[in-house]
Amino acid sequence: MITIALSKGRIFEETTPLLAAAGIVALENPESSRKLILPTNCDDVRLIIVRATDVPTYVQHGAADIGIAGKDVLDEHGGAGLYQPLDLNIARCKMMVAVREGFDYQGSIRRGARLKVVTKYVKTAREHFAAKGMHVDLIKLYGSMELGPLVGLADAIVDLVSTGGTLRANHLQAVEEISAISSRLVVNQAAFKLKRERLQSIMDAFARAVNAG
Ligand code: ATP
Ligand code: MG
Repeated sequence: MITIALSKGRIFEETTPLLAAAGIVALENPESSRKLILPTNCDDVRLIIVRATDVPTYVQHGAADIGIAGKDVLDEHGGAGLYQPLDLNIARCKMMVAVREGFDYQGSIRRGARLKVVTKYVKTAREHFAAKGMHVDLIKLYGSMELGPLVGLADAIVDLVSTGGTLRANHLQAVEEISAISSRLVVNQAAFKLKRERLQSIMDAFARAVNAG
């Protein structure tokens, strides 16, 4: 049996065509089903539906053989025990620093001001600002980071940005790109040795679909 860990929403939608290219079709839609284990048309493949941030954990511990996770999530997790053979080029966006419109970010840096930053990506943010030699106070949030600067919780946010629509709607502006983000295939290292042939056939089909798209 091959177990594939996926999250609902964007990742499931963008992964469905890749799975189809590997001949794998979910027998139920995770958006409407309450089941957390979804059978597929392949007797030897099942999907488990987990929170996006939990995908690396399931794969690291071998509860799933492979998974699909954003680079944002993998950077925070650290990637221990995970083989990352393939960039699927889906769910593309950017990890960015953003501030309120009119806030002088560069000036604050020049003055050596100690900025308050809200983010759910604490490790990513800590490493980014440390590399720039900036001293920041990081405050961990679990969502709606855009609110932080609007109500005085923070000067800046570190979050994913795709179109910038959410930033604009909240009078924020991106001031710095931290990294380009897309989703990656992750594979449990022990499973890759034990189930090599089946996993390789799935990985090859994904790679062909990614290169064709
Ligand atoms: P939840 O929304 O349930 O709190 P989540 O925010 O982790 O969980 P998603 O919003 O579905 O879940 O994000 C899953 C992954 O999709 C992220 O880890 C990231 O890699 C990618 N992603 C998030 N936001 C965007 C975006 N605006 N554009 C493209 N990809 C994105
Ligand atoms: Mg989300």
